[in-house]
Amino acid sequence: EDEYIGFATLPEQVHRKAVRKGFDFTLMVVGESGLGKSTLINSLFLSDLYKDRELSVVNGTSYNDLIERTVNIEKKQLEIEEKGVRLKLTIVDTPGFNDSVNASNSQKSIIDYVDQQFKQYFEDESGLNRRNIIDNRVHCVLYFISPYGHGLRQIDIETMRKLHNKVNIVPLIAKADILTKAELKTMKDRIIQEIEDNHIRIYEFPDCDSDEDEDFKQQDRELKASIPFAVVGCNTVVEAGGKKIRGRAYPWGIVEVDNPSHCDFVRLRQMLISTHMQDLKDVTSDVHYENYRAMHIRTQMG
Ligand code: GDP
Ligand code: MG
Repeated sequence: EDEYIGFATLPEQVHRKAVRKGFDFTLMVVGESGLGKSTLINSLFLSDLYKDRELSVVNGTSYNDLIERTVNIEKKQLEIEEKGVRLKLTIVDTPGFNDSVNASNSQKSIIDYVDQQFKQYFEDESGLNRRNIIDNRVHCVLYFISPYGHGLRQIDIETMRKLHNKVNIVPLIAKADILTKAELKTMKDRIIQEIEDNHIRIYEFPDCDSDEDEDFKQQDRELKASIPFAVVGCNTVVEAGGKKIRGRAYPWGIVEVDNPSHCDFVRLRQMLISTHMQDLKDVTSDVHYENYRAMHIRTQMG
């Protein structure tokens, strides 16, 4: 069976551009430590499943690096090629928060990182070599929410509010395998309510074109109904019924990473790397970066 990540099935217009120029995308993971951030990145893009694919770590030593405890902001760049489309993926792994003291340090380094990329882009844009700017702006933050609490923690609310004018936030419930379906549903509803009550602006999924076919519309509705995405990360493969499955084994069964009825992993990957990648880039550029630019110019003028 062919395992595709799926970015080569980008919408046609984007696809053509991507074949010509390649495609840059930067993803950042944020949240408490121990929630499986590094593991999920690994499951999303670096897993052994893609070992036979054209995939090279441009920067950084090995895939397994990512799953060691993250103490600093770490940037990894990968080039993945699929059906003639080249994707340059930058993954920014951040140190998680443990307590309120290091939370504020961690928050600060995350925000500094995002701002620094805007600043660099701004300088490049005003420079002489405007045609060949490398876009290192953060296009999406995957925000990890603990499955052990009852919803958002104060630190989550604070962090998301500090980030929401700067980046597209996509909220996730981490380690969803420890929750039952019913618990997950309650938790999702509560988080959506808390996001609203606290005026947190998460990434808004665009409306579907009215001329899309019914299948696509249905898929789009399911995607939106899944937010915050419940994810399970895992770097090991288990055998079940003669098949190799990526999943977490429990006495009562296996929670399969790639099974959409077990968790939202596949939906998340599909949306990041195929259906919504261009929109995430557009919103970064048209909304978040424009905000930065307007503020920056205003400050310069005093
Ligand atoms: P990080 O600090 O957020 O980067 O978390 P890590 O990726 O280092 O993972 C912390 C621990 O949680 C490791 O022991 C992982 O094996 C485990 N873990 C990661 N993802 C999951 C998951 O989806 N479910 C469960 N049950 N454990 C996970
Ligand atoms: Mg980590």
